[in-house]
Amino acid sequence: MDKYLENLNESQRAAVVHKNGPMIIIAGAGSGKTRVLTYRIAHLMNGGVDAFNILSLTFTNKAAREMKERIGQVVGTSEAKNLWMGTFHSVFARILRSEGHNLGFPSNFTIYDSQDSVRLIGSIIKEMQLDKELYKAKQVLSRISSFKNSLITVKAYYNNPDLIESDKMTQRPKMGEIYNQYVERCFKAGAMDFDDLLLRTNELLTRFPEVLSRYQDRFKYILVDEYQDTNHSQYLIVRALADRFQNICVVGDDSQSIYAFRGANIQNILNFQNNYDDVKIFKLEQNYRSSNNIVEAANSVIEKNKTKLDKEVWTDNKDGELVKVKRNATEVKEAQFVAQSILQHVEENEISLNDVAILYRTNSQTRAIEDVFRHRNYNIDYVIYGGLSFYQRKEIKDVISYLRILINPNDEEALKRIINYPARGIGATTLDKLSVAANHYNKSIFELLCNLKNVDLNLNAGTKTKLINFVTMIKHFEIEAQNKNAFEVADFIVKQTRIVKELEKDGTPEGISKVENVQELLNAIKGFTDEQQEKKEDDSLAFFLEDAALASDLDKKAKDDTPKVSLMTIHMSKGLEYPYVYIIGLEENLFPSAMSMNTRSELEEERRLFYVALTRAETQAYLSYSQNRYRWGKLVDCEPSRFIQEIDEKYLELLSPRIAPIAQNKFLNEDIFGSVPQDKIRFKKPIQRPPIKKKPSVRAEFTAPKNLKRVPKNPTANAGPNLFDTNINVGNIVEHLKFGKGKVIGMEGGGANKKAEIQFASVGIKKLLLQFAKLKII
Ligand code: ATP
Ligand code: MG
Repeated sequence: MDKYLENLNESQRAAVVHKNGPMIIIAGAGSGKTRVLTYRIAHLMNGGVDAFNILSLTFTNKAAREMKERIGQVVGTSEAKNLWMGTFHSVFARILRSEGHNLGFPSNFTIYDSQDSVRLIGSIIKEMQLDKELYKAKQVLSRISSFKNSLITVKAYYNNPDLIESDKMTQRPKMGEIYNQYVERCFKAGAMDFDDLLLRTNELLTRFPEVLSRYQDRFKYILVDEYQDTNHSQYLIVRALADRFQNICVVGDDSQSIYAFRGANIQNILNFQNNYDDVKIFKLEQNYRSSNNIVEAANSVIEKNKTKLDKEVWTDNKDGELVKVKRNATEVKEAQFVAQSILQHVEENEISLNDVAILYRTNSQTRAIEDVFRHRNYNIDYVIYGGLSFYQRKEIKDVISYLRILINPNDEEALKRIINYPARGIGATTLDKLSVAANHYNKSIFELLCNLKNVDLNLNAGTKTKLINFVTMIKHFEIEAQNKNAFEVADFIVKQTRIVKELEKDGTPEGISKVENVQELLNAIKGFTDEQQEKKEDDSLAFFLEDAALASDLDKKAKDDTPKVSLMTIHMSKGLEYPYVYIIGLEENLFPSAMSMNTRSELEEERRLFYVALTRAETQAYLSYSQNRYRWGKLVDCEPSRFIQEIDEKYLELLSPRIAPIAQNKFLNEDIFGSVPQDKIRFKKPIQRPPIKKKPSVRAEFTAPKNLKRVPKNPTANAGPNLFDTNINVGNIVEHLKFGKGKVIGMEGGGANKKAEIQFASVGIKKLLLQFAKLKII
């Protein structure tokens, strides 16, 4: 047996070595589905299958990278590089680059992110003079997105009286027209939105049988992870591509299907067996990720769902700690509890902050956590995944828009952002005129600008000159950009456009942090260029832009290697695992969300979401809720989530409302943030960032700045009334819960920082903070 196969249990191995034909691996969380997929690819390659013939679709690009790395360890990195592996969006964007010309798209098409799409829809609504309240751009986009995911083209929409009727009922009779305009404008701009990457792939494979045939031949083996969350469009692509060889292996867990709201169709996994003859079904039952208590607690909740496949999940792992439930008076107290508890684990169990994740239902819940973590008394480094991504910040999008225009001058949304930024006297009225005329002539705005002489737009001479200057500048940039790599172009553009100078004028801390962000963008592009050159791969700007457009937040590399707590929504946490997991805001109407408990199927999806959250935890899971919370500007009373009550209580431990002795007093303290030792987490790299006044609503990566730390001169001054002054002294024999008996050989610090150095029989010398160590003198 090959050595790597020894890392699998029997059922896993059977799935890995199974040869050809359609197969499905359906199994609960943490049972090694992703591991099997990874090993299966390695095994195929080991058995002589060419990497170029394997297509593997993952939930994030990060997952794809990690899988490639592991496969590389078995078959060699250079071979693993040739695998077609990534998210549906990134793999099919790549295919559309070379095949999109069949559909009339240039190979340098732009990928519109949701911000671009919303802006474009906003302009269309404005131009059509529709009521902005009835036609909210975001809602219109989400409706269009649902059409696209179900492959309802504009034509199909108009042929469907039910859809037309339902839009009339919701007072939006012009939906079809907006949809039509939106599709046409994207096409003219040489742009595809996220849904188009799937829709257009389907169109390509249906309308061009010879293209389909080529890719069917190429992808002799197709593997899909997280299959339970594929939508109809993705289902059809996979089905078409796998049709010739039928070597299709899908992996998933119906209990973790959580994207119905975005069009995912749980029926894809439930019906897989009906799509092919002779489907081989594999079940994995042993969970390797979590402690027994966590596995059982999760099982006891998901059992309440009626719609599910029967599955066993058990583990050989130790029982471990019970799942801890914490009631808090307010969301600030909740955040303090989480902070305290994390610091306590850092101290007692010597964990790294990288081992901790905080999961929540909605992005807005991070505010209290961020405030508390940043507070000088805690200073906990964290990184938020999700929310507005780095690439969607205004200053970043402005720079990126210049870069996008260089690649695709017809990119309307990019052009609109930069035509008057930095200000060059081209006003909104002029832009409106250009936009209307461009539509009229069926040209892009840039094409129109290049032909200003030949069209009469009723512009005054001054404005005309400004527009001509703008076009000349862009053309000059284009020439300069030729033969430069991504970094050289970006660096050149940032200097030429004087964007940084513009931001510096501002002078506020926000302005400074924007300048830093632009710098960070340049660093990222430099990093990309260097890496590509090292790998001898494409280091062009076009390639960088595609990477940036499709990178999810999880894909981004941390700015530094300082350990950080990860904060993310549960949706984002799918497939991931952390030793310590805090699920916060477990309250009725928040989780389950008030918007998702009107029907059984909605509620069951919320329950699956909870199952996903709980099963991310390896060692310990905390469930916390608050009795009061500010929601939409009002303080509301909250009830604990039904999901807590649904867990079999034998796996739960209710923490007293007052946690450690210190915390008891601290909660009574006027200073709501209490006192926490300063020296628990070491910051490798102090950053020179000014204090951030406003909470950034964007993805924040926060390394607690040393320069913000105000350690009181007298360390006890901050500590409140003798909270830490226990009677422990050098020479005492003490007992510690985990380390057992030991002798105190030294004392240091005071107040919150008071530490004892103890020689333990079991683990040798340890320095422990008295406030957490719970030592008993014996
Ligand atoms: P999810 O449903 O959350 O996506 P999954 O079924 O994909 O989970 P994996 O992520 O593949 O599960 O595995 C869970 C953890 O268990 C990983 O850390 C993995 O390395 C480990 N694991 C899986 N199988 C084994 C095994 N046979 N021996 C040791 N560890 C294993
Ligand atoms: Mg997985």
